[in-house]
Amino acid sequence: MIDHDVIIVGGGLAGSRAALEIVRTDPTLSVAVVAKTHPIRSHSVAAQGGIAAALKNVDPADSWEAHAFDTVKGSDYLADQDAVEILTREAADVVIDLEHMGVLFSRLPDGRIAQRAFGGHAHNRTCYAADKTGHAILHELICNLMRYGVKIYDEWYVMRLILEEGQAKGLVMYHILDGQIQVVRAKAVMFATGGYGRVFNTTSNDYASTGDGLSIAALAGLPLEDMEFVQFHPTGLYPVGVLISEAVRGEGAYLINSAGDRFMATYAPSRMELAPRDITSRAIGRELRAGRGIHSDGTAGGPFVYLDLRHMGREKIMSRIPFCWEEAHRLLGIDAVTQPMPVRPTIHYSMGGIPVNTAGQVRGSSDSLVDGLYAAGETACVSVHGANRLGSNSLLECVVYGRRTGATITQAIPTRKLPNVDESHYITEAQQQLQSLLDQPGHYRINQVRQAFQDAMTEFCGVFRNASLMETGLAQLQGFQAQYSQIYLDDKGKHWNTEIIEALELRSLMIVGQMILESALQRQESRGAHCREDYPQRDDTNFLQHTLAYYSAAGIDISYHPVTITMFEPQERKY
Ligand SMILES: Cc1cc2nc3c(=O)[nH]c(=O)nc-3n(C[C@H](O)[C@H](O)[C@H](O)COP(=O)(O)OP(=O)(O)OC[C@H]3O[C@@H](n4cnc5c(N)ncnc54)[C@H](O)[C@@H]3O)c2cc1C
Repeated sequence: MIDHDVIIVGGGLAGSRAALEIVRTDPTLSVAVVAKTHPIRSHSVAAQGGIAAALKNVDPADSWEAHAFDTVKGSDYLADQDAVEILTREAADVVIDLEHMGVLFSRLPDGRIAQRAFGGHAHNRTCYAADKTGHAILHELICNLMRYGVKIYDEWYVMRLILEEGQAKGLVMYHILDGQIQVVRAKAVMFATGGYGRVFNTTSNDYASTGDGLSIAALAGLPLEDMEFVQFHPTGLYPVGVLISEAVRGEGAYLINSAGDRFMATYAPSRMELAPRDITSRAIGRELRAGRGIHSDGTAGGPFVYLDLRHMGREKIMSRIPFCWEEAHRLLGIDAVTQPMPVRPTIHYSMGGIPVNTAGQVRGSSDSLVDGLYAAGETACVSVHGANRLGSNSLLECVVYGRRTGATITQAIPTRKLPNVDESHYITEAQQQLQSLLDQPGHYRINQVRQAFQDAMTEFCGVFRNASLMETGLAQLQGFQAQYSQIYLDDKGKHWNTEIIEALELRSLMIVGQMILESALQRQESRGAHCREDYPQRDDTNFLQHTLAYYSAAGIDISYHPVTITMFEPQERKY
């Protein structure tokens, strides 16, 4: 058995910022980070457009209050306003702290950090490192973890949480290199396992974004909050789905339909291309449905619209958004200086997650906390994004709440003891789970079941939803779950058995998919990213509350949790 004071699952921005907070405050603590990838390959590294903070470097009229208002309005009033206040008040401080660590932000001519426009933000407040912001921040954080001697278990896959009598005691993890299984015991356990974009067939997310932390929490009997709120990013490059950052529109690009019109004038006349993502994604969806999409040969009625940068000029494109130019060039052979890019909405972000309070402590129910368990980042729901996240608020959430959660853990450790854990019980259980996967006499291929599941999720729980679509989705999901017990693994070995990992990930994806569908079916209103054609209005009387979904093999139970409203009364949301 391995012992640490603190074990953190996930080496992205949230996990590494929390680890750094702990060792910076008390270097004597034994802190470890586990990641199924190398931490540098966490999805955070792919973040492009930037991190929001009211620094006022470009726009002196900005303030944390204005940032808070934009965030709450963007969330369609579902965000918890105490959590938003913390996010926006602490933003400037965490960004300056990152700068002091050495993060290479892009600059204004006078040397201060540059800030650009972003969707749903009324002021230019997004700080950036060209369009490689996640790369710049994550590399600096990981360098710091190494400097402080944080133990890193890279390419270990966490299989389960050890939760006994309401107390988190540790983890069971599997070494992808050689098949070794280990139990880790700790005084505090933190989840920072990121999102679940791979539940759907077209996503901007990494292959590793499979929602493992969410399914591990759900299998341990913990609730998941607001899982129906899945963000579609308006500009996924067609057909691959990889992200073309909102920074491209922040720097002035247009969205145009087959008639050559800037169609956002119909949907959000005051914000145009910089409306929030839910509104812009639906606008593209409606243009495509109305036959104003574009085909590859340029004719009308096709599956994408154009993102047009041509008026911006080579110099601006190459200095502000070089990576987006490079992506379109590398993947489609398009030179965005002279040609428009084909785009359509792609699954991008998970607003819901493991419910936590503003100190990062995980909720076991609407009115209880789990002893010793913490979460932050995309896998957590604090909830600062409510029903729709604004771009550049997620990196900020990871850093603000990663830091806060690290601080909470550091304070708690002196009064905690290493728990007693029956190591052999957990090792035997994990061995049996893996062996039964290897021995299964089935005939389905993992890829075949996963693809059919992802296609169904996209078809039955996409940008536009209704009850009969989602009921069909749930019925099909039962079929995929039955097929799961008949998948066949070719590789029976212990070394680099990526099929085992794919099988475990597929289980996570299907649990998360079921939680999304059930939560979405029960929410009979339209709010933020959750757009019900059979309930087109927002319904504050019945649904101004957070969903809590509990998983069990028999089915999913749904209950609700109040929204914290402190500063801004809900209003109709117009842009
Ligand atoms: C292409 C792209 C661009 C983006 N651009 C921006 C942007 O410009 N601004 C912004 O604010 N947001 C952006 N986002 C969103 C933002 O990047 C993410 O929400 C954020 O980085 C998530 O960080 P995280 O630390 O929560 O998780 P991640 O960075 O996803 O890290 C998850 C970690 O958990 C580990 N893990 C997961 N499961 C297991 C397991 N079973 N066992 C062991 N380890 C596990 C992984 O190995 C990884 O280390 C973007 C997202 C994408 C996909």
